[in-house]
Amino acid sequence: MPLLLPLGLLVVLCLWGCEKQSDTVSLTVPPPIIPIAAGPYPEQPADPAWLNMVFLGAGGVHLQNAGQSVLADPFFSNPPIKDWILLRDLVVREDVIDRYLPATNDLDAILVAHAHHDHAMDVPYIAAQVDSTVKVYGSETLRNSLLSVIDPGRLVALNGQAGHWVAINDSLRIMPLLSGHAPHLLGRVFSSDRITQPLAQSPRTVMDWQSGQTLSFVLDFLASGQTRFRVYYQSSAADPMEGYPPHGLPEDGKPVDLALLGVANHNRLQDYPVSLLRVLQPRQVVLLHWDVFWDDYSQTVTQPAPGLDLKALVRKIETVLPADVPVYLPGRGAVLSLQESL
Ligand SMILES: [Zn+2]
Repeated sequence: MPLLLPLGLLVVLCLWGCEKQSDTVSLTVPPPIIPIAAGPYPEQPADPAWLNMVFLGAGGVHLQNAGQSVLADPFFSNPPIKDWILLRDLVVREDVIDRYLPATNDLDAILVAHAHHDHAMDVPYIAAQVDSTVKVYGSETLRNSLLSVIDPGRLVALNGQAGHWVAINDSLRIMPLLSGHAPHLLGRVFSSDRITQPLAQSPRTVMDWQSGQTLSFVLDFLASGQTRFRVYYQSSAADPMEGYPPHGLPEDGKPVDLALLGVANHNRLQDYPVSLLRVLQPRQVVLLHWDVFWDDYSQTVTQPAPGLDLKALVRKIETVLPADVPVYLPGRGAVLSLQESL
């Protein structure tokens, strides 16, 4: 662990240097990846045959079906890198969250894939803004990290439920899957400890936000007991087998309608996301966590993370995805509306 801090500083210094460049670099999106710009925030679909996905930045998404609404890894604060390096307390930007947090009166769940700051630090404030019956689903580490700031009855640790359906309500179920996290540098994932005891106070510095077990999720949006939409959510690139659904899942007659795949540091994993896509055989793909997450948050500019290699990603994707499966790269605030395929 003592070695990790200097390594962490090295990588953030590198990123900081690259950040200066990315201010002026416009992103060229290679085909067949389809860019989507921000659009008007969608209304909740009245028809259960439609599903909306809104990209919020980093791993953050908002999913809406008729009467159903889920936030996953919502993150708006984007603390600047100098605050990481100086190990300052990271500031939750309540003003930014208030401006951009979607209408949440119909929210059913908040999912958190792991407990690094860019996935978890805004969750306590957001949980306080939504109905007190809405639960936060994540790992044991997430629960132990946030027990001092979120009602324990609202924090659900899912490590023991991996591979099993967890009912959120009659119309929504999730399946947590034990997953992994691409290394940041030299094969290491920074701040990757597990928090096994409740913390007396929630994490403050970037080093306090320990990832714990990374989870991926299958989400089923149901009507009359039937799955109308199946969504696969994995906000961090991972090695083969990590985050894979059980064998029965793709064979239960319902395909994965939408795969939401984080691509940060995908180039550090030779296979990702080839084998995963081969297993999922999704009908559509949206790429997440491709963007800078330490700038002033807005939905007018979304900068690519330094080192993002979309051409290499295309080369990998084209080996496994049929040409008619669209792959989208959303800007913050971009909306994708899917119609159920019968
Ligand atoms: Zn992470």
